Amino acid sequence: MSRPLVIHVDSIKENAQPYEADISRELIDEALRGDPPTEFHADGASHFTGNLTRFGRKVLVRGKFSVPMAGACRRCVKPVSSTEPTELIRTYVPRDDRSLEPHGKRAKREAARIDQDEEGASASFDPETVDEEVYDGKDIDLGAAIREQILLALPPAPLCREDCMGLCATCGKDLNEGECGCARAAHDPRWDALKAVQLEKKE
Ligand SMILES: [Zn+2]
Ligand SMILES: [Zn+2]
Repeated sequence: MSRPLVIHVDSIKENAQPYEADISRELIDEALRGDPPTEFHADGASHFTGNLTRFGRKVLVRGKFSVPMAGACRRCVKPVSSTEPTELIRTYVPRDDRSLEPHGKRAKREAARIDQDEEGASASFDPETVDEEVYDGKDIDLGAAIREQILLALPPAPLCREDCMGLCATCGKDLNEGECGCARAAHDPRWDALKAVQLEKKE
């Protein structure tokens, strides 16, 4: 089995060395259907494009990818799909080094210094927000960070459009296509509040 998201630390020879890797549909799906599952699933594979910088055994990984995802509109259950762009910035620190250092402060400072060396790159990069991860041996596995980033890229809920009217609670008609003639009480939030009170009384 190939391990495309694993970086061999010794292979990093220069600052901002280009790095690309495939992100499988399975990995995206695993993240989206994890525990607890989101309302989305993978809608395809993706590709990470970025660069690697090494200082001693610490490695700064920066790059971008997009998350193709699909789900069902929370209100009308129509299929919804979108591709959310996201970016990944992490500093990887070898486990044995980290135990000697209080709170990874030094890695952040070094990340900041390296960034200033690059022409114009610092504008989009705040070293204080760089998340630090630990790696073992000589390989960095980006899988966990990618999974985390996929979840951060999610919209709050799948909606076919912001103002989706949803389905009629009585007859099930898609209200985006027009009125069905049922009493609209179910869609007036004041009635929802009243219904809640009535339900409480019954219990
Ligand atoms: Zn909808
Ligand atoms: Zn209706």
